[in-house]
Parts: sequence; C-alpha cells; structure tokens
Amino acid sequence: MSDRAGFARGEKGSRLLIRAGRVVDPAQGLDRVCDVLVEGGRIARVGEVGDVPAEVRIDARGLVVTPGWIDMHVHLREPGFEEKETIRTGAAAAAAGGITAVACMPNTSPPIDTEATVEYVLLQAERAGFARVYPVGTITRGRAGETLSEMGRLRRAGAVAFSDDGAPVPTAGLMRRALEYARMFDAPIISHCEDKTLCEGGAMHEGGVSMRLGLPGIPSSGEDVMVQRDIDLARVTGGRLHIAHVSTAGAVEALRRAKALGVRVTAEATPHHLTLTDACVEGYDANFKMYPPLRAPADIAALREGLLDGTIDAVATDHAPHTIQEKEAQFADAPVGVVGLETLLGIVCEEFLHAGLLDWTGIVRRVSCAPARILGVPGGTLASGSPADVTVIDPEAAWVVDPAAFRSMGRNTPFAGRRLRGRAVVTLVGGRVVYRDDRGR
Ligand SMILES: [Zn+2]
Ligand SMILES: [Zn+2]
Repeated sequence: MSDRAGFARGEKGSRLLIRAGRVVDPAQGLDRVCDVLVEGGRIARVGEVGDVPAEVRIDARGLVVTPGWIDMHVHLREPGFEEKETIRTGAAAAAAGGITAVACMPNTSPPIDTEATVEYVLLQAERAGFARVYPVGTITRGRAGETLSEMGRLRRAGAVAFSDDGAPVPTAGLMRRALEYARMFDAPIISHCEDKTLCEGGAMHEGGVSMRLGLPGIPSSGEDVMVQRDIDLARVTGGRLHIAHVSTAGAVEALRRAKALGVRVTAEATPHHLTLTDACVEGYDANFKMYPPLRAPADIAALREGLLDGTIDAVATDHAPHTIQEKEAQFADAPVGVVGLETLLGIVCEEFLHAGLLDWTGIVRRVSCAPARILGVPGGTLASGSPADVTVIDPEAAWVVDPAAFRSMGRNTPFAGRRLRGRAVVTLVGGRVVYRDDRGR
C-alpha cells in the first residue's frame, strides 16, 4: 500500500537507528525507553538493539518516539488553487509538524472525482516526497450533490475514502446510496454535516456572541440534524460513516448513543474546536472563521469529554489554507478555514499531555492508530515489518507559533503567538528523514 500513497520505499539495505528514546506503541502495549532499528524503509526491531552500525543515527535520549502521526482531514488545494497551497508545500508542512501521512479532501479544481485526478495527486505527492498523501474521492460527480461519482474506479486508483467535504450531501436518498455503495469496498464516507437551509449565510456560531457582534449565526442544529440523519442511514445500510470536524454537544451525544447501539460510525475533532470558543471572534479576525464555527464553552467541554471517552476517535486538523488577502476581508465576507498541520502536535501536547488529560498512549491512539484504522492505511504501529513512519518528539521544547515560519503557504492560524510546549524534532517516512529540527539540541 505504501507505493499507493505517493511515497517510495526506503532504499534496500540502508539502516537507521533511533537510540534510547521513550518508545510509545499502543498496538504492542509498549511505553518504555529502548531503541528502534529501521532497515530498508521498514521497522526491523524495537528493543535493546545496541550499538549496531547504521548510516543514520538519531540520539533520542529525553525524546518520545511514536508511530507517525496521521492527519485524516486536510485541504492541499492542488489542483486548481495553487495560490493557497500546493501538494509540495502542504506535505512539507505535514513533515515539519511531525505528520507522516495525510488524507486530502477532494474540493479541488477539478475535484478529485476521476481516476486521472487521483493519480495526479499521488504523482505530485511522490515528487514532493515529504509525506504520504491519501486522496479522498468525491461522493458525488463534480461535488454537485446530484449523482454518485464512480466510486469503484476512484477506489481502484487509490482513493481511501469518499467525501464532498466543504459541502454536505444534500439529500438523504443520495447519502443512503453512497453508504450502500462504499460498503462494497469497506471504505468510509466522510460526512461534512451542515444543513444548508439552517446554516446558509451564517458567519459564526449562533448565540449570545453573534447577537452582540451583529454577525449572522450558524446554529448548532444545522450540524446536529445532519449528524443524526447520517447516523440513521449508517444504521440501516450497515455502511461505514465518519463524521468530520464534530463541533457541537448535540453531535457528541448522538455519536455516543450510536456507538452504544453498534452503528459503524467514527468521528474526528479539530484542535481549534477542542480548545477555542466563539468569544475568539470578538476581534472580527477572520483567522477565527471556519466551518463549523467555533462554538460555545459547553460544546468545547462536551467535545473534550467525547475525545477522552472515545466517542470521538481522532484529532484531525481540517488544514485549510487561504491567501493573506482573502483572509484580510471583512469577517462576514472572508473564506472559511484555518491551517493546522504545523500546530497539531504542539496543541495536543499543551492541551492534553501537559494538562494531564491524556498520556502518551492515549495521544498516539487518537493521532495515529485511529486514523490508520478508519482509513484502512498502513501505520499506527511500530511493529516489526511495518513501514518506518516515525515521529520523534521533544515534549518539553517550548516555542511560540509564528505563522511567518510555516512551511505551509497558509498563514491563517488561530494560534498565532501562542506559547506551546512540544514539537517534532525528527520525522521519518518510509525510513527516510523528511524533517529534522536541531534547534537547541
Ligand atoms: Zn468540512
Ligand atoms: Zn475540510
């Protein structure tokens, strides 16, 4: 499968040794200081390897070694919007953020609704060489919400999932058929839950803050009704449903009930929805504008509870770069979306690890194991024989988010100026070093 993700395998015979790091691999029940030996692009051994000869050596004393982080929801903008981001800059941003693989959404131009476009994305990712890129195909032709795309062909070309992200699937009938069809390949349908009749024209979460600011609101019900619709359809079809960017307490509750009933549903939440509220919009800064919008404190509390109890399986960024000019527009007119690839790791460390809410095993499950499982791609483990996609982290490294330093072309982060503790120091994909940060070491 690794050749299907636009990334060549490591050279045969080459050896890389990561010495004396704290190795965390929930798939093997492992959390202890030891070595990781990589041979020919694959994990050869985890344990006391000793001082064997190796072309590349990484001293990981004081560092944490995890399976590569996987961001299952990003917008790489290519083809069609290369002024916002390219596959190359997006993949470089992933590597710098400790992310070894991403799933990229198909709202490009043309959209990823043909085999040729899937192949183009894979080719560009291979040329870039920084991270594995898994294309998500559209659910409907042209993302127009009218007829199903040729899912079988997209799947054979390398699409790992299907989504019309950026837009909802407008009718229940179409979503039902999509779930039935994707079930044949056991591929997930990733649902962007937004009832346009409730949300259209809104600029921020509907509530006390939107009233005070005089901005048109996006009600929580606009998400809740679609989450419930899709859960009901997943239940009757037996199809696999994944809810993108969950943001409301109502959606978390619906997911919890559905999982208890055995519905095949999974979910992700973004770092911004897990940590920021609609009060951030008070300065009318469009770097706090995204869909779904930042919600109320009670929603954030419910999301965090859902992430901790497993109702929400994964953290994904919904990385959505825009140009500076676009984001400088009036709040109501600015495009939705924020970048996230280069802040995911720092935010997760700061808000969950250092806050004492999740241990390393809990974090790795949510940023590596769950995305790999949901997408059905390699990764999420350091077991012998698996591709050597590895993130080496300095959990204590303090840094300040500076958008000007991003590898991403997008500067539109809601975390600019934030002090964080925790960053990637080495990122390996297929046994190759794709990012190394030697600052202060
Ligand atoms: Zn979306
Ligand atoms: Zn998205």
